[in-house]
Amino acid sequence: MDSILEQQIGHAIVFQQQTRKNAKDVSSLDTVKTNALQTSAGRGEAAFTLVELLVVIAIIGILAALLLPTLASATERAKRLQCMSNLRQVNMALRMYADSNGEKFPQVSAGRWAWDVPWKVGDSMVQNGASQPVCYCASSGFSAQDFWNLWNFETNVYRVVGYALTFPGTATVLLTNQNPSMLPQSITDTNIGVTYPPPSPSERVLTADAVISKPGDADEIHRWLNSYINIKGGYPKVHQTAHLDKIMPAGGNVGMLDGHVEWRKFMQMHVRTDPASPNPVFWW
Ligand SMILES: [Zn+2]
Repeated sequence: MDSILEQQIGHAIVFQQQTRKNAKDVSSLDTVKTNALQTSAGRGEAAFTLVELLVVIAIIGILAALLLPTLASATERAKRLQCMSNLRQVNMALRMYADSNGEKFPQVSAGRWAWDVPWKVGDSMVQNGASQPVCYCASSGFSAQDFWNLWNFETNVYRVVGYALTFPGTATVLLTNQNPSMLPQSITDTNIGVTYPPPSPSERVLTADAVISKPGDADEIHRWLNSYINIKGGYPKVHQTAHLDKIMPAGGNVGMLDGHVEWRKFMQMHVRTDPASPNPVFWW
């Protein structure tokens, strides 16, 4: 009996030991596995970082290529908005001028281009809230110093501003595009003897962005044949159209007789100055 019991106890002890050993083996196996996992994870991490780096570089390249034109157009968009705000102030100043002059805009005789303003009319624009800097479009390619020089272009005679004007007698502006008064009147083109009905104040341009082409470049059908840059005048630097899309005009802001300002695409613009003039052509 005793020996059987001892034998059984002995088995039990052996079993217990084996179980412990197995458990130890299992736990040591786990340790090995864990180590293996950690090692592989460590190696994988290093390899992934390299691939990731390449992917990130590739993505940065693609994003830069995508974003650069967007950033450029965002800058141009900001300039268009700034220009629109300028034109609103210029327009309001001119309408205030008319308001205190029996609804009439000034009769002009000085100047050679459609953006030349009689000296004193420039002064009254400033008095009516259009400060000198707002008289120029930020997309003209000129600096604040250029604007200041142009503002003082011909002392006591006329100033050169950044926007075309439509006062009666404004240099080169076609008769049918001149505005003698705030109140639109029927217009008779004496050259062809045709009378046009009074235009709607919301559709009639009073001031316009400087979309200009070289003298005589007034082809409305084959617009790409005209040159809109490197336009020479009396100023040492050459002029160019504002809001260019490479070498073609993208469009421009136009200020209407009723005071509102809107963006007009170049394809919807027409020649508004005398194409036979020796001075540049203005479009709006
Ligand atoms: Zn502009």
